[in-house]
Amino acid sequence: MSVPKKRVKWTNWSRNVKAAPDYYHFPKSVSDIQDVVNSCRIRGVSLRVTGAAHSFSPIAKPESDAMSLDNLRGLISYDSEAMEVRLWGGTYLHEAAPILAAIGLGFENMGDIQEQTIAGAVSTGTHGTGIALGSLSSQVVAWTWVDGKGEIQYHRRSQDDLSKALSLSLGMLGVLIDVTIKAVPLYSLQMKSYRSTLGNALAEWSSGIRDNRHLEWFYFPGTDTVQVKETNITPLHKQTLQSKTVEFMKNGLIENAGFKVISELCRVKPSMSRMLTTISAKSVPNGSKRGMYYEVFPSPRLVKFIETEYAIPLHAFEACIEEIHGFLRAHPFYVHFPIECRVTAGENAFLSPTQGEETAFLAFHMYKGMDAGPYFKWVHMLMEKYNGRPHFGKVNDLTNEKMRQLYPNLQRFMEIRQQYDPKSVFMTNYLQSIFRI
Ligand SMILES: Cc1cc2nc3c(=O)[nH]c(=O)nc-3n(C[C@H](O)[C@H](O)[C@H](O)COP(=O)(O)OP(=O)(O)OC[C@H]3O[C@@H](n4cnc5c(N)ncnc54)[C@H](O)[C@@H]3O)c2cc1C
Repeated sequence: MSVPKKRVKWTNWSRNVKAAPDYYHFPKSVSDIQDVVNSCRIRGVSLRVTGAAHSFSPIAKPESDAMSLDNLRGLISYDSEAMEVRLWGGTYLHEAAPILAAIGLGFENMGDIQEQTIAGAVSTGTHGTGIALGSLSSQVVAWTWVDGKGEIQYHRRSQDDLSKALSLSLGMLGVLIDVTIKAVPLYSLQMKSYRSTLGNALAEWSSGIRDNRHLEWFYFPGTDTVQVKETNITPLHKQTLQSKTVEFMKNGLIENAGFKVISELCRVKPSMSRMLTTISAKSVPNGSKRGMYYEVFPSPRLVKFIETEYAIPLHAFEACIEEIHGFLRAHPFYVHFPIECRVTAGENAFLSPTQGEETAFLAFHMYKGMDAGPYFKWVHMLMEKYNGRPHFGKVNDLTNEKMRQLYPNLQRFMEIRQQYDPKSVFMTNYLQSIFRI
């Protein structure tokens, strides 16, 4: 068995969640994982697997023992005919995409960064945008995991309840050792970005989400400006080292550095937020980007923030964004980060925030060091009106009562959890406060 580290300090990316687990385990094999689970069960303590710590909520926060799958990364096997790829759970997405590319395959969709582990991303339903496309969880066709009894389990997706529970499980059914992804042929993307007014963008919203493989908006709070990104498949094209470097200098360094300066000004003098948001909105460039899909989806996030994100039924999006605009114009909060709007197909996972419906996701960010309290409180309240379900990996105000209202299959999920983890090895106090039935 691998030797655990004692009392290691742990924090998430945005540093709003901190912990000092008693033991941090770094298994090197599946039997190491089983040993750790058995030890935790016998000692009666909780075990939390941590991925890349890119969740803003305390779902990955270890309370007693923590485990990282950093030693279990990479490709296990693939079937190019079936286009299925089996990856160790600890594989980072930035490692996974080139692995798939080397065998002519790709992820069907991705979010806006690639720092997460595959197991962490599928455990929280990490999503990108595209009305015909689901989250990373929906791309999984088989799971292997060590359950709370220390037993190795394998399950292939079908229409059964176990698949619906495993699809988005927040680590509550066990340690995901590996996942098998249904991939697609390798592809390239062309992303077109332009500045629009809210009125014009709204007029084109319905056709835009159907006519483009991916549509994304950044609405600048309280202003009339929206940055629209339309992304579609283009003939295979890989960025050269030179174009990558130019892009990194332009988008990675210059834009991030400029935004960092604006953010610091807002932090030091929050009352300047509205004025600086207006300046940022006016300077949105019209431009485009082309490359392999994993060169186009993710962008560097060098300015730290915390985030809350909600899924609402797609049909409510227009009313919701108009209400947001009306309110923020009249009652500005000290916020300058644009609101990110994306869409996804509905998914049937018991804990999917989409609950089977075509969905719009709205994400609200606050610069690290600025007070997110009043803004996020308003978001939480507003989203109740639209039956919003928060992304579990982002800041939320979920309570047990709200969970029961929002997730009609919570009971069934918890029955399956009980079956695979009868001694609650994977249940933390945080999860218990929300998920108990
Ligand atoms: C800058 C930034 C950008 C982001 N962009 C997006 C985006 O575009 N779309 C989106 O949907 N989300 C986004 N997120 C949120 C992020 O994708 C999710 O929170 C994701 O779960 C993080 O993955 P992780 O590997 O860091 O997992 P962690 O945050 O470490 O863990 C997440 C959950 O997975 C569980 N887990 C991890 N590994 C295992 C395992 N092997 N077995 C069982 N359970 C496990 C943990 O216990 C925890 O419950 C973003 C976050 C940041 C910080």
